[in-house]
Amino acid sequence: MECVGARNFAAMVVSTCATWRSRNRNLMRTKTAISSHHRYISLKVRASGAGSESCVAVKEDFADEEDYIKAGGSELLFVQMQQNKEMDKQSKLADKLPPISIGDNVLDLVVIGCGPAGLALAAESAKLGLNVGLIGPDLPFTNNYGVWQDEFKDLGLERCIEHVWRDTIVYLDDDKPIMIGRAYGRVSRHLLHEELLRRCVESGVMYLSSKVETIIEATDGHSLVVCENNRDVPCRLVTVASGAASGKLLQYEVGGPRVSVQTAYGIEVEVENCPYDPSLMVFMDYRDYAKQQVPCLEAQYPTFLYAMPVTSTRVFFEETCLASKDAMPFDLLKKKLMSRLETLGIRILKVYEEEWSYIPVGGSLPNTEQKNLAFGAAASMVHPATGYSVVRSLSEAPNYASVIAKILKKNHPTGMLIGETNNENISMQAWNTLWPQERKRQRAFFLFGLALIIQLDIEGTRTFFHTFFRLPSCTKRSENVPCQAPTQRSNRGNHDKNISHTIRRLCAAVAPRICNVINLDSRIQTFTTELDELKDKRDDLRTRVERAELDGSRRTNEVQRWLARVEVIESEATSIIENLGQRRHGLGYEVREVRNFEGEGEVEFEVLETLTQLRILGLTISSIASLNRLFGLRNLVRCIHYLLLKECEGLTELVFSSASGLTLRRLSITDCYDFNYLVVNAEDGQKWLPNLEVLSLHGLPKVTSVWKSPVRKASLQNLRLLNIWYCHSLKNVSWVLLLPKLEAIYLFYCKKMEQVVSGEEGLLEPDPKAFSRLKTIEIRDLPELKSISPWTLAFPCLKSIAVIDCPKLKKLPIGTHNSSTLPTVYCSEEWWEGLKWDEPNIRNGFLTNFISN
Ligand SMILES: Cc1cc2nc3c(=O)[nH]c(=O)nc-3n(C[C@H](O)[C@H](O)[C@H](O)COP(=O)(O)OP(=O)(O)OC[C@H]3O[C@@H](n4cnc5c(N)ncnc54)[C@H](O)[C@@H]3O)c2cc1C
Repeated sequence: MECVGARNFAAMVVSTCATWRSRNRNLMRTKTAISSHHRYISLKVRASGAGSESCVAVKEDFADEEDYIKAGGSELLFVQMQQNKEMDKQSKLADKLPPISIGDNVLDLVVIGCGPAGLALAAESAKLGLNVGLIGPDLPFTNNYGVWQDEFKDLGLERCIEHVWRDTIVYLDDDKPIMIGRAYGRVSRHLLHEELLRRCVESGVMYLSSKVETIIEATDGHSLVVCENNRDVPCRLVTVASGAASGKLLQYEVGGPRVSVQTAYGIEVEVENCPYDPSLMVFMDYRDYAKQQVPCLEAQYPTFLYAMPVTSTRVFFEETCLASKDAMPFDLLKKKLMSRLETLGIRILKVYEEEWSYIPVGGSLPNTEQKNLAFGAAASMVHPATGYSVVRSLSEAPNYASVIAKILKKNHPTGMLIGETNNENISMQAWNTLWPQERKRQRAFFLFGLALIIQLDIEGTRTFFHTFFRLPSCTKRSENVPCQAPTQRSNRGNHDKNISHTIRRLCAAVAPRICNVINLDSRIQTFTTELDELKDKRDDLRTRVERAELDGSRRTNEVQRWLARVEVIESEATSIIENLGQRRHGLGYEVREVRNFEGEGEVEFEVLETLTQLRILGLTISSIASLNRLFGLRNLVRCIHYLLLKECEGLTELVFSSASGLTLRRLSITDCYDFNYLVVNAEDGQKWLPNLEVLSLHGLPKVTSVWKSPVRKASLQNLRLLNIWYCHSLKNVSWVLLLPKLEAIYLFYCKKMEQVVSGEEGLLEPDPKAFSRLKTIEIRDLPELKSISPWTLAFPCLKSIAVIDCPKLKKLPIGTHNSSTLPTVYCSEEWWEGLKWDEPNIRNGFLTNFISN
């Protein structure tokens, strides 16, 4: 154990493994097996009081990277400070609940975790006559929950609300604010804890204060809940309600959407000059308080203020980042909140409490084939777009408990839990209650909304919410509580349609902004090319001027000014390109993220199809079924500018009609092991893929020639970059001779490639324009390559050739007509020495850069 200060903590979070995609672990794990999986190590911090910087750290580990992010990731210190606040007003569970005595009879159900979900489920299950044990650390509720008053009233929990605002207000910009027309309440965490505990006491729940380390499926069909200090609790069924970071105890679907994080920094304060009306709860204030004074903060993480004015001087303020791929750090949120309050003229007189709200949103669903069940945040019940889950957990606990009770009663009332037929998964009924197909579809819609919000900048976010809050039904209960209580389930069909309609309207509102984001990549590219051209012109002019000066001429002021201006443009342009690049990285690869919805593909494509203003789309496709579906959607196909086919099992060819390939600008095919060739079904005279700029083929071992039929003249007129890796059957790419705009060729690791251009296939004479714009050739690890081209060609623009590990290549196809502009050659010295030259003099003109193999 050691003491760490808050500031140093982030640096102490250590990752020993970079990638953690495989989460498909065996259900029946032993403790040893688990420890070998836990390679994310971090330090757990206990804070003695709210806001304390004095902490005790103990080691803790996580199931995988996703689990680590769900637990708090780089903000873990603050998450732990929030969880470990002392709350004297709340009872200890151990003081009120009878203990689970180890060695007792087998329990019917063990609920792991004593958050709102765990307490509610344990109470409801015990009420139905089950023998229930609750296991988890004896911690108080420390979060400030906000709820719609009517919802809490329906749950019979109105008396747990400590303050009610008659209405809720949303400010998006300087226009008139939006009134939601719904009363909002602040939950007393103490009263809620006491009430749920009371329900547990009344129904006879037993309790053990301990952390669960693992769950073992015993050979007799029971489950063994293994707790700290080697205490094992046998039971018939386990429900994990240990919060979002439950990867140690549960399996989640592999390859699902990545988790995002909502972070908020809050303070309850005594203030002067509060501009907010104490009768209204401020749900969102997205106004530009800083008027661009802190544009960087705003651009990277759009945030809003959530404010609960308890009185005119006592207010709970919270700066909130609704969702971000990488959690917005609390210190940034705090800085922004303080700056916002100062700009608003609000003076803080006293701080009662600080709050660090870290809520993982989105992410995968639990794997519903596992025997152990889940509930609450562990069961991914957190609303992907809002971060709310408490009301849903409390309202669904009774129904979920009754399904669990039915399963247990049907299966040997007092004995072990086994499937009715062979290995039938008896827990499936419970999983299906929690996640029936239609609810999965709803979630997919919301995840799409989440993906959309994450892509948006502050303006886009405002537009989104402008539309959202003005939708006629947005603040009605059915829209805000995506999953209704059981009695309302018959309305789900309509509800589903409503959500679908809502999402469509939202998407339509922000589509132009998404297009902007999508365009970013190509804009960077164009900008860079133009900058390069300008720099080339500048260099040419400078050389000529310098030569003329040597002959005694003097440069004119105009020339001098022009050169100076180019210097300034160059430095500004470079910084813009860098910024755009960073933005692109921050945003991920555009709408490509929709690949995360595989399995819910119909929803995803349907939603995309409704984006009537969508013009540019980038997609990653990983199955033939999705590809076929995509090519059936004509409107969508016409928007595709970037297409990545990845790991499409069984895909042998990709067929473009003249219409389907018209807009395509970048095509990548990666790791498709059955792939043979590209096919373009164009009529005579029609040009193939006229807008394609970049073609990347990686890991296609069966490809012998890239195109099924010979490339026609005047096709692929815009192809600038060809990138081929690991295509081991490919012999040549002779068709590159036909590409007038080709700037770069990269050919790496193709075992059988013998020639880059073969000279066969009817090409007796190369087109004089062949390679007229080629700037770079890089070839590597082509063990059979004997020639680049059978002809010596003019390469007027060639600036560099890299040849690495191509031992059979003995000649470069470069002749005297290149002698004034010879490229730099990157190669090994040994290979260079072994080269043969038709015109020996030319060898001396090359710039060589030797690299060791
Ligand atoms: C500051 C803050 C404000 C929030 N405001 C709202 C809000 O207004 N509305 C809303 O709906 N949501 C809100 N949330 C989110 C909400 O708190 C969570 O989504 C909710 O608590 C999830 O409930 P849960 O019972 O599923 O899990 P948790 O509340 O996370 O409870 C999990 C419990 O399991 C225990 N546990 C963990 N690991 C183990 C283990 N191995 N063995 C045994 N026990 C274990 C933990 O100690 C914890 O007690 C807020 C969150 C924060 C941090």
